[in-house]
Amino acid sequence: MKAKIAEVFESVQGEGLYLGEKQIFVRFFGCNLNCRYCDTKLDAYAEYEPLELFEEIKMYQDKYHSVSFTGGEPLLQSDFLKEVLKFTYRYGHNNYLETNGTLVKELENVIDYIDIVAMDFKLPSSTGLFAFWDIHRQFLKVASRKEVFVKIIVCLNTKEEDLNQSLSIIRDENKAVILVLQPDSFAQAGSLDEKLERFKNICHAQGVTSFVIPQIHKIAGVR
Ligand code: SF4
Repeated sequence: MKAKIAEVFESVQGEGLYLGEKQIFVRFFGCNLNCRYCDTKLDAYAEYEPLELFEEIKMYQDKYHSVSFTGGEPLLQSDFLKEVLKFTYRYGHNNYLETNGTLVKELENVIDYIDIVAMDFKLPSSTGLFAFWDIHRQFLKVASRKEVFVKIIVCLNTKEEDLNQSLSIIRDENKAVILVLQPDSFAQAGSLDEKLERFKNICHAQGVTSFVIPQIHKIAGVR
């Protein structure tokens, strides 16, 4: 069984609740979506067997918070991912999954071997795509068997009604979930300040904990 892997490297997590944690990153090639704001345009990959990828992960000898399986969308190759997760899980690594939150059956396939799920809600007014509300709801239900947080990208055109829909799903499925409001990295500095403040107040009023966390690795110029 082989999978397409774009890169394996060490760095610090640049976004979300684990910002600043040292991780080994495994970036899977390919995605099932095409978000308007996507900055992960991958054009090259190498093919790996599960054991081969695990051997490469093992070469990183420092202390790491976790192994981040990211993309693209890692769940697109979930059978392969499951085999690698079994290796890293038994080896004692924390498995951290970064996912767009749309492949429910594939998450079911691997959830036993995941420690932390960092899932997106893809807001139609942000992505320019159709809505995934029912799918995100089912995905969050499965992800809630483990530690999970949700991230949304806030752009100039992000609508309040999409935030409200996200909050409604979180309140229904897992009230403990923290919502990360991530400003679109392409937006001009300061242009989203008022909206982020307003969105944060809406989250607070609806009883959902939220944090505004920009993508620090882009600001700091690290990988
Ligand atoms: S889900 Fe992520 S990788 Fe896929 S198109 Fe959207 S932003 Fe890009």
